[in-house]
Amino acid sequence: MRNTLHSMPKVELHTHIDCSLDFKTASLLQPGMSFAEYKEAFVGPEKCKDLVQFLQCIDPALALMQTRLALQVSVDGLIRQLAADNVLYAEIRFAPHLHTQNGLRPEEVVETVLAQMFESSEREGIYCRLILCTLRDFNKEQSYEVTDLVARYQTQGVVALDLAADEANFPLDEHIAAFRRANTLGLNTIAHAGEARGADSVLETLENLGVSRIGHGVRSVEDPRVLERVVKEGIHLEVCPTCNIQTDIFPELKDHSLVQLKQAGVKFSLNTDARATTGVSLTEEYERVAHTFDWTEQDLLTSSRMALDASFAPDDVKQSIQEKLEVFEAASVE
Ligand SMILES: [Zn+2]
Repeated sequence: MRNTLHSMPKVELHTHIDCSLDFKTASLLQPGMSFAEYKEAFVGPEKCKDLVQFLQCIDPALALMQTRLALQVSVDGLIRQLAADNVLYAEIRFAPHLHTQNGLRPEEVVETVLAQMFESSEREGIYCRLILCTLRDFNKEQSYEVTDLVARYQTQGVVALDLAADEANFPLDEHIAAFRRANTLGLNTIAHAGEARGADSVLETLENLGVSRIGHGVRSVEDPRVLERVVKEGIHLEVCPTCNIQTDIFPELKDHSLVQLKQAGVKFSLNTDARATTGVSLTEEYERVAHTFDWTEQDLLTSSRMALDASFAPDDVKQSIQEKLEVFEAASVE
């Protein structure tokens, strides 16, 4: 099944640009680096103490990603990896304000990333869209700024506002107003929740942020009422299994809540989250899930279909990807 899983057309909704500098990309940004040095700086330990330790592993990449050229190289590297995974449609994400240390304005950061995203994805023959993140530790003004960037670039490839970073130590309070503004403006919204904190975090996100998707949300299973609400409201969970093991949400993959989510009828997709920091490709993610839970090709195709349904792709793109998934499915049952 390994070859099949590699060639299987995929849809990925949750992958961070700054967590995805592979060795080739990082070597372009820091020439002369050995693979051992790369692993030391850019790949996190197999088990982090918690999400906070995991987030610290991104600092070396962020330190490099402060110029237009570095942003271009980073985006190009990620799209190369997506193509190698046979991803047909992806939504990639990052926080523009983390790339302004050398004087770039957030608008310049977004425009640089968008231009490179379209150039590289056209070359690779895949579709890509961009999600902009505000961060838990940002203040109200910064969150408003990110919302305004999403509004400003929504016709140019930006499709949603996301809330990311340290869920356990920073409350939602500073971000509620920005998400209200986004909802009022009709923008798509997503938030990371139910990862470093439990089902209560999912609940407060649903009550306050008006999201259609949740990054992770895998701890919804800790409260049957929250799980029921996720199902009832058709909230899509962007599940990133290997990363959840690394941040110690679950001890091992066999302990992951994915099976419970599937049984409960939750809509979800499989994603890498952090291709470099976690050290995983989407094909490997599929392989691990298939192996651990005895999932079939059909199960994995269903997850790509659910991803496509929950994506913010234009209808014609959705249609085109849907047809490619069908062609693959028809060929694999023959
Ligand atoms: Zn994430």
